[in-house]
Amino acid sequence: MNLETPLNQIRGINTKISKKLAELSLFTIKDILFFFPSSYTDYSSLKKINQLKINENSTIKAKIVDLKTKPLFKKRSLIIQALLKDETGTLRAVWFAKPYLEKIFLKGREFFFAGKVTASKYGLSLIEPEFETIEKEEKKHLLRIIPHYREKKGLTSRFLRTIIFPLLKFSDFLPSFLPREIEKRYSLPTFSQAIKEIHWPSSFSFLKKAQTRIDLENLFILELFLLKRKISLKEKTAPIFSWQKEIDEFIADLPFKLTNDQKKVLQEIFADLASGKPMNRILQGDVGSGKTIVALISSLAVALKGYQVAFMAPTEILAWQQFQAAKNFFKKVDLPLALLTANYSLIFWQGQESEVKKNSLQKEISQGKFLIVFGTHSLLQEKINFPRLSLIIIDEQHRFGVNQRALLTKKGEKITPHCLSMTATPIPRTLALSLYSDLDFSLIKESPQKRKIVTKVTSPKNREKVYEFIRKKIKEGEQLFLVCPLIEESEKLSLESIEKKYQEIKRIFPEFSVAKLYGKMKGEEKQKVIEDFAKNKTKILVTTSVIEVGIDVPAANLMIIENPERFGLAQLHQIRGRIGRRGQQAFCFLFPEKLPAKTRARLKAIQESTDGFFLSQKDLEIRGPGEFLGIKQSGFPDYLMSALTNFTLIKIAKEAALNLLKKDPSLDRFPLLRERVEKMAEEISFS
Ligand code: ADP
Ligand code: MG
Repeated sequence: MNLETPLNQIRGINTKISKKLAELSLFTIKDILFFFPSSYTDYSSLKKINQLKINENSTIKAKIVDLKTKPLFKKRSLIIQALLKDETGTLRAVWFAKPYLEKIFLKGREFFFAGKVTASKYGLSLIEPEFETIEKEEKKHLLRIIPHYREKKGLTSRFLRTIIFPLLKFSDFLPSFLPREIEKRYSLPTFSQAIKEIHWPSSFSFLKKAQTRIDLENLFILELFLLKRKISLKEKTAPIFSWQKEIDEFIADLPFKLTNDQKKVLQEIFADLASGKPMNRILQGDVGSGKTIVALISSLAVALKGYQVAFMAPTEILAWQQFQAAKNFFKKVDLPLALLTANYSLIFWQGQESEVKKNSLQKEISQGKFLIVFGTHSLLQEKINFPRLSLIIIDEQHRFGVNQRALLTKKGEKITPHCLSMTATPIPRTLALSLYSDLDFSLIKESPQKRKIVTKVTSPKNREKVYEFIRKKIKEGEQLFLVCPLIEESEKLSLESIEKKYQEIKRIFPEFSVAKLYGKMKGEEKQKVIEDFAKNKTKILVTTSVIEVGIDVPAANLMIIENPERFGLAQLHQIRGRIGRRGQQAFCFLFPEKLPAKTRARLKAIQESTDGFFLSQKDLEIRGPGEFLGIKQSGFPDYLMSALTNFTLIKIAKEAALNLLKKDPSLDRFPLLRERVEKMAEEISFS
């Protein structure tokens, strides 16, 4: 037998059981070793019956002095009641629907029993206690800290313990990679000791060390993967772009002065662009901090030399808006621009915007004619090539999915493009250090305009008051966003809820024009709605989180968010970023449906802070990395999740990984480790 031995070859596991194990993705001995308990109970203290305390977990040694059975559920099964006795007293115990116990619990026999003592009208009782014979063999279910596993019908923790424990010895054959010196320095167990301890803890403090050891192992491999990726990128060459006098002229012509942060960030970007190595930089800056112009100036440097830029936005609306912004900024510079999305194929050349046939635009982009191409992620899939692609810009990269660079690089001709991602959702430091350690960071801290937004969590009884306030404000010329949550499980329900809200709002505000906007609308229709709203023709826009990113409507200073509890903090912050964009006084009302404590804490944070960094750190703390990153999109393996927020461990793992790569950059001397690193790369599907 070895780690790969299928479980059905193990004594005590028949076909029926191995099928059930397979449903838990457990096929081999190795799988079982990594099937970690979900919780533990401490039954290590052996007590006399008269020492037992209510609600305490303990083990006793007692004799069955009386036994009764009663039918349960109309005789389909039964309740077993036992009276237990030791030299200090008696205690009752009950089991439900376990008829086979009748054959084991014979009157007069002595057993160990363990459980939590509860008080009932019959006195102290144990409900469904664990039990074991008093023979000298090693105890699996009591007299120690015992593990509980994720159960399935017909697969109890009790049973899992009996099959897992004898297999733990196989953990000695598991490869372990964390350098021994790290184990020593932090007095940690070896990997195999840690695995055994996790299943069969000797104490809670050792258990904690074991968990740390395993987290470190995983983080070490993760860091090796990320650092290797970084090194291999650094080995590539990329075209060189430097600052030119046309750029100075362009900046001098802008309707505003760049902020100091924008200038600093441009320096960082241009240092990369001129380095001859591919840039891999993420630009973080709160909503409205002016990231777009930074990206456009960088694009200009590339386009002036006749190379191509792919400028990707997360939604069509945003791609369209960016194209419009670029048109305005580039009025005097004669650069061929294009917008290519599912619904748009527009070009801008020699001061002229025109609509063109999609396939001819695709062809011309593929011939290298258009230098800055705006679009969504569909640029990755469209039937186009970018023969001279040298810069990729990914806007609002806060869903850290897919490897855009890899996909787009394939479209170029042997050029490794520079890559600049931008996000208004700051990546918390812990995640930046762990997941994104191969990225360079740039930060815009100060925004050109200070936002003035008052945020208020509103109780249902104050709705009317809020509506009156809004009515007054709209009469004064302002506009309202009304944001409904997307109902993820069902698009149909989402549409229904928007439609319902839309009708309701039309009833409440009959004097104002109301429009609706949602993701699935046709491109033209969407554009019309946005244009009307941007021109202040419509006063109220009922919408969803589609407006989360980008949309820039100067006079919209009012917002209502329905069911804010369904949004993450970082997302709420983004949504709220749609109002007060020219520094005017803005108001954001949150209408939660329910306010449990956790929600209250979250909404309190958003009410009190407009600091995106603070909010995203809080979001991570409250929701954990899985939800923060959107675990479904990120495809990140579960076993890494808890470790990802442990700052100290990440630092240790990273240092160890760096040290090893310094000695052996391609891990030639460690083929098994290299294989493990490659396997993790596959598991992290987002990479
Ligand atoms: P974001 O970082 O959220 O993408 P944008 O790039 O859309 O922000 O910028 C928000 C607004 O601020 C835009 O209208 C933009 O033209 C304007 N802006 C950018 N930089 C400055 C600046 N230095 N001074 C004044 N306004 C600026
Ligand atoms: Mg933006």
